[in-house]
Amino acid sequence: MPEQPFLERILFSEEQLAQRVRELGRQISADYRGKKPLFVGILRGCVLFYSDLIKNVSVDCTLDFMCLSSYSGTGSTGHVRTMLDLRESIQGRHVVIVEDIVDTGLTLDYLMNHLKDRGAASIEICCLLDKPSNRKVDVTPKYVGFTIENEFVIGYGLDYNELYRNLPYIGVFKKQ
Ligand code: 5GP
Repeated sequence: MPEQPFLERILFSEEQLAQRVRELGRQISADYRGKKPLFVGILRGCVLFYSDLIKNVSVDCTLDFMCLSSYSGTGSTGHVRTMLDLRESIQGRHVVIVEDIVDTGLTLDYLMNHLKDRGAASIEICCLLDKPSNRKVDVTPKYVGFTIENEFVIGYGLDYNELYRNLPYIGVFKKQ
């Protein structure tokens, strides 16, 4: 691939992502057999991961989305807002939250608090990437694609100021 001015290096290739997402889909399918899970995608970063993941889920399931906002540029603002809420009730449902990356954990902490009184039978988190070294609150995803260092990454749904979400791989962003 030609050198890209915005890219420090590639972390995970398209093939590596596809293989790991397949494994996660299989694992979730085995864990949720007979439970008709509800996959809640957190927009917009989840889009590529979410659609690849559910293609690899072999149990009956339903889909819904939320849009939360907390990041600006390469830093978390710490203020999370709900821009779009769920359409479906989660009462009695087994919910799997699908997130691109867990960094400080503030977004998912907010989300778990937001959802906890809505009567779900269970709520678990599936994230493609986990940056545990930057955690500010206690959030533990059950399903993790890859654990990474504290670097700002782009691609496969992840943006820098809304750019680069369409890259088929994940790379470390090169600050100009
Ligand atoms: P947290 O609230 O856990 O700090 O951050 C969650 C959100 O921040 C993620 O859903 C993602 O949108 C954004 N984020 C955190 N780390 C990164 C990163 O390395 N790259 C990009 N593009 N977004 C990130």
